[in-house]
Amino acid sequence: MADQHYLALYRKYRPRTFEDVRGREVIVRTLKNQIISGRIAHSYLFCGTRGTGKTTIAKIFAKAVNCENPQDGSPCCECPSCRAIGADASLNVVEMDAASNNGVDDIRNIIDQVAYSPTQGKYRVYIIDEVHMLSTAAFNALLKTLEEPPSYAIFILATTEPNKLPITILSRCQRYDYGRLSTETIEGRLREVSDAEELRVEDKALRYIAGAADGSMRDGLSLLDQCNAFNYGNEILTYEKTLEILGAVDTRVFSKLYNYIHEGNTADALKVLEDVLMQGREMMQFVADFLWYLRNLMLLCASESTKDSLDISADNLAQMIEDARKSELSEIMREIRIFSALVEQIRYSASRRILTEMAIIRAARGRMGGADTGAEDQLDTLRNRIRELEQRLLDDEKKIAERPSGNGWGAGSDPGQASGAGRQEAAAVGQPAQAKPAVKKQYPKAVPEDVADIVRNWTKYISQLPSGMTRVSLLGAKHSVGDHGQLVIVFSNYVTADHFIHDEGYRNRLRYFLRQCSGKDVEIEYKALDKGQKFTDNYVDLSDIVKMKIEEE
Ligand SMILES: [Zn+2]
Repeated sequence: MADQHYLALYRKYRPRTFEDVRGREVIVRTLKNQIISGRIAHSYLFCGTRGTGKTTIAKIFAKAVNCENPQDGSPCCECPSCRAIGADASLNVVEMDAASNNGVDDIRNIIDQVAYSPTQGKYRVYIIDEVHMLSTAAFNALLKTLEEPPSYAIFILATTEPNKLPITILSRCQRYDYGRLSTETIEGRLREVSDAEELRVEDKALRYIAGAADGSMRDGLSLLDQCNAFNYGNEILTYEKTLEILGAVDTRVFSKLYNYIHEGNTADALKVLEDVLMQGREMMQFVADFLWYLRNLMLLCASESTKDSLDISADNLAQMIEDARKSELSEIMREIRIFSALVEQIRYSASRRILTEMAIIRAARGRMGGADTGAEDQLDTLRNRIRELEQRLLDDEKKIAERPSGNGWGAGSDPGQASGAGRQEAAAVGQPAQAKPAVKKQYPKAVPEDVADIVRNWTKYISQLPSGMTRVSLLGAKHSVGDHGQLVIVFSNYVTADHFIHDEGYRNRLRYFLRQCSGKDVEIEYKALDKGQKFTDNYVDLSDIVKMKIEEE
């Protein structure tokens, strides 16, 4: 399944000249003009979300300033200098990822080199990615060099979070903001790439992928890659197929569900859920997406002028405005409360479907009150009834969790199946401990608290990421724990795991992001399942263990 030689589309089609860059006209023209006129600055700051072209343009710029035959400010890509830089083999371009090298020594290594002028070419270009992650001491060391750079040195600092940079650094740099790319720009590029690869893709499918990329060209190309890998051998990548592969649901389905709830039509609302499940969609993703739909509806209901800031296709927008016009803001907010509570509830629940059905019924019944006398009484009765049901469900789940079954993590029947730390724990306890309740002894130390904490809050954390490839794949990933207590993230296939397994920057950003969310630094390992391999056959399922711990508490 995993092809070692396969080059991801976003790498293969990374622009090599300014002419290949899409959607960055102003930045490109400004930089080209500087090259043509010879008025090149010594320090640049490129700000913007990931996958929007910062390092790509930095590299083209590095080529252009050193090119022997620049064409209208663009690199020729043929001279020895262009070729060396293109092959990452030039001493004139020094790249550093501050996410992994953020200490003062890392910066010193770079600064020490600055003293030597380039032996070939005119400029030595230093590209520092995620520069906001440098330590204070490292910033101070860098600042000294930025204050008096040698004539041949150019610094290009790239960051997703310019607000974290010291003002002293900001004031030294020419700043360029890389906003999210428009859906049209991404769609256009996806069309070019599909044509070049001779992939047959429906326009509507490309538009959906471009929208899901949420302004990141890299995510757009990765999603196209993902769809294409799953569609292998099929004639044409259709819109329906794309939704299926990405585990997504057409916005029209959300509108349908919302309208049935709005009419208090419980039966048809539940039917929508059933259809979605029949198509094999992931429940977690479905509920999270429906919540996002409600959020957009809420904004439209509060003020239709928000429509310009919502990245929704014209067709869907018209339908949503119609939905919003017949709704009360308080009603939508009530539903948001119901479904956001649901997202938390179903994360570790084995009864996802029942809980989701309950939420739909609760939302739809809430609409039936109105003119009926005693509607509030009915509602209260209903609420009590639901509370009873919920309690019974929880009790049932607890019973299931406590049952000593042989499902790999069950109560102490085979301690050898636990992770390494669990094995040690069991060995240390020894024979006489058998009389103790086994559940407690086997796991608490096997799962380091920090890892468990992150898994417990996984959905909450990951939902804060912008929508797109990363969020979708991380929400769908499974969790396990490794021999040294590291968090193991397991993806269902190699295409989804590609970024994380091969891109150190990607890994560092996730680790940093989780550190920001949880306040804890956790070592992470990335794995992908082979075709036909089952997660539970090969890994200890951390979600189960975490759930069990919650219930014990
Ligand atoms: Zn050249």
